[in-house]
Amino acid sequence: MRTLEVSVVTPGGPVLEESFEMVVCKAETGEIGILPGHIPLVSPLQISAVRLKKGNDTKYLAISGGFMEVQPEKVTILAQSAETASDIDVQRANQAKERAERRLQAKQDNIDKTRAELALKRAINRLDVGK
Ligand code: ATP
Repeated sequence: MRTLEVSVVTPGGPVLEESFEMVVCKAETGEIGILPGHIPLVSPLQISAVRLKKGNDTKYLAISGGFMEVQPEKVTILAQSAETASDIDVQRANQAKERAERRLQAKQDNIDKTRAELALKRAINRLDVGK
């Protein structure tokens, strides 16, 4: 089976460098599945889960947006944060979710709603991947 080299990089350093048979990402325009030999492209990514498939195994990564660069034999993901399922602190994500929900429900003008909505998305994404 042909594989793709997948590299995931954050400001904190590389998170993953491994080969997979298929990568499924959520680009801004929707989900895309990338197989070896894919045409080159660059795309922004949503706060979402990345699925990495090899044989019967699927690895999940929670990423907070960012970009991907696709080359026929390589996929590079650059993201502000990226965590594998086992690296996710579920309690922390639950607390972040509750904090964001409280901010969104508060009837105060000084709440940055967009920021709270993004924090809520990151927390829900981490909880999905952490399961
Ligand atoms: P919090 O409010 O809990 O900090 P956040 O969404 O604001 O959540 P980020 O700014 O996205 O956090 O991430 C900051 C750093 O903390 C990143 O390195 C990210 O990987 C890590 N991180 C955030 N939440 C978690 C979590 N639940 N489990 C593991 N690592 C996390």
